[in-house]
Amino acid sequence: MIEEVFLDWARQIHKENPVVDAHFDLAAEVYERRLAGERDVVERRYLPHFQEAGLNVLVSSIYVSGRDLPEQGLRRALGQLAALREELEPVKDQICVVTGKRELEKALWEKKTAVLLALEGLDPLGSDLGLLRIFYDLGVRGASLTWSRRNAFATGCCKAGEFREIPGGLTDLGREAVQKMEELGMWLDVSHLNNDGFSEVCACAGRPFIASHSDAWGIHPNYRNLKDGQIEALASRGGVIGVNACALLAGTGPGPSGRADAGKAGETKKAGQTAVSLCGARETALSQLARHVEYLVEKAGETHVGLGLDLCRGLSEATPRIRFQTDSDDILAHHGELLKLTAILLSRGMKEETVAAVAGGNFLRFFRERLP
Ligand SMILES: [Zn+2]
Repeated sequence: MIEEVFLDWARQIHKENPVVDAHFDLAAEVYERRLAGERDVVERRYLPHFQEAGLNVLVSSIYVSGRDLPEQGLRRALGQLAALREELEPVKDQICVVTGKRELEKALWEKKTAVLLALEGLDPLGSDLGLLRIFYDLGVRGASLTWSRRNAFATGCCKAGEFREIPGGLTDLGREAVQKMEELGMWLDVSHLNNDGFSEVCACAGRPFIASHSDAWGIHPNYRNLKDGQIEALASRGGVIGVNACALLAGTGPGPSGRADAGKAGETKKAGQTAVSLCGARETALSQLARHVEYLVEKAGETHVGLGLDLCRGLSEATPRIRFQTDSDDILAHHGELLKLTAILLSRGMKEETVAAVAGGNFLRFFRERLP
């Protein structure tokens, strides 16, 4: 059990300091749910949890699944942007898209959740880098070159769902894309990039870049996670790493947070499993996530670690179950449970100043510096 005293302390920290999640597939989920006829998805499913966690900034990725590529990529990406804008309109007094520094400061001042937009993979562009400017004009301020797959710009870190590394780094077009992003003032995200690609980004990037949702290989060797040299290289260039709460990456197995179909191998919760053991499993998973935070802080330094929770359960539930989807579970059931992660970090002895920087201070600093 997490002691109440640490939860109270966590609530106070979240109230008094910025809280940032640098990776969440909000636009993709909203798009899928609206296609199925749902409305007010953000208001009903998310706002209460965002507010419980005191979430100030959320980066919504634009993520196009493999089933829609290549032909439907552009349409899906635009559809997600449109769906998110439609969704946020009725709740704009509580949550809004921001595209510049002034808007961000205004949203923070008004205690709204500020949503930043980022492309998870440049797949919607096809091989037409010229379209990047259009996405910038639509408010997109960050991007990764690729998701785990290979595209016209770069090669991802593994064959999704199999965790088998695929060779190849950036293409010439990928290097041009890095340059174009820097000209436009977009931040580059290296999560999902493979090892060759990471090294090439280090060689060609002139600005700090982030790994919005990756864990530490040193704690759990998974192709999606960052090796010590990568952590140090990213931090020394002024970037920030967002800790990922996906059970598969953190290394806690199929995940303890209770989805009936959790687990790639089809493991299900046994009938009659007690609430006590579930509670125990959840705390073990939270402690494992805390170990990633501590390790990253040790290797990158306390000013280069944040949160990119990548909570995927909502999107998984909203999309048809198809074979190539990686099936894992989230260590946090929803954003409100972020308080538990903060509480666990405090209970394990991390100093308050570091905990607050991880909860949001570091990513907020990065986004403030990068936004126009
Ligand atoms: Zn991702």
